[in-house]
Amino acid sequence: MPARPDLGPKPHLGYTRSLIDRAAAHRESETALAAFAQDARAGAYVVGGELIVTRRRGEGGDPLFGLAEAHALGEPRETVFLGLADGAPRFGVGIGAKAAEDLKARGDLMVTDLRSIAVQGLVPAEHLPPLAEAKALLAWHGRHRFCSNCGASTNVVQAGWRRDCPGCRAQHFPRTDPVVIMLAIHGERCLLGRSHRFVANFWSCLAGFVEPGEAIDDAVRRETVEEAGVRCGRVVYFTSQPWPFPMSLMIGCHAEALTTEITIDPVELTDARWFDRDELALMLKRKHPDGLMTPPPVAIAHHLIRAWVEGEAPEF
Ligand SMILES: [Zn+2]
Repeated sequence: MPARPDLGPKPHLGYTRSLIDRAAAHRESETALAAFAQDARAGAYVVGGELIVTRRRGEGGDPLFGLAEAHALGEPRETVFLGLADGAPRFGVGIGAKAAEDLKARGDLMVTDLRSIAVQGLVPAEHLPPLAEAKALLAWHGRHRFCSNCGASTNVVQAGWRRDCPGCRAQHFPRTDPVVIMLAIHGERCLLGRSHRFVANFWSCLAGFVEPGEAIDDAVRRETVEEAGVRCGRVVYFTSQPWPFPMSLMIGCHAEALTTEITIDPVELTDARWFDRDELALMLKRKHPDGLMTPPPVAIAHHLIRAWVEGEAPEF
């Protein structure tokens, strides 16, 4: 018996549980990659900056194109091998942001940003993880065409999973930027904040980038005290989520708040306050009397909050 049957079944966390076998052993085999490109089942996701190009299908889109079709949609920048979906090769094709923007004029295509696709469910859910993989990897290429060590133009190798510098021989690997996102809990209340970029009435967990030389737990404690003035003790990992905007990994934690007085950092937040379970349940259900809302189910913050409301988070 679930603790809160009123909340309904647990939603899926967006961009997670990929069905793609990354088949990394094939990345350096020109023979295998050439065969994958010729495979009749091969499919490519097309990304242009923040935009995803799909073939219009009713209210949504089909995000898979044949490789040649994908390359014809715009001057291809990089083509990367994402892996195998039940044996079918999957690629990511990067085109320019302007080229993708121009494709919006075509009636047979739906060109929109990945956030909208995920929140509105515009493509079948199994495509979200490979779209995240393609978008994050292609975003890295877009920012790393020159060697950060010597400035020379770099070459794509390993099917898009490395760039090598012909000048100084440095090897550059795709990066992922770790972000901690946490729900600080004090007995029967937990802490949410509002960022400047949030829409009205929207409340979420505090979050921030992990800094060089910093442990996840320490980043959770530092961010919570910096943004809200609340000191934390114990930190318990919950789950993680790829967040390809452009290439982050959200690391979700519950944290034990040691203090309750709030002092916000006005640069980061417009407000922060404590919420109890009943109020959050109303927000999760979109039934709060003042219209206050938590993030949508596609986001990890929704799951961090819901786990606590349902009594599945550690008791602090
Ligand atoms: Zn170099």
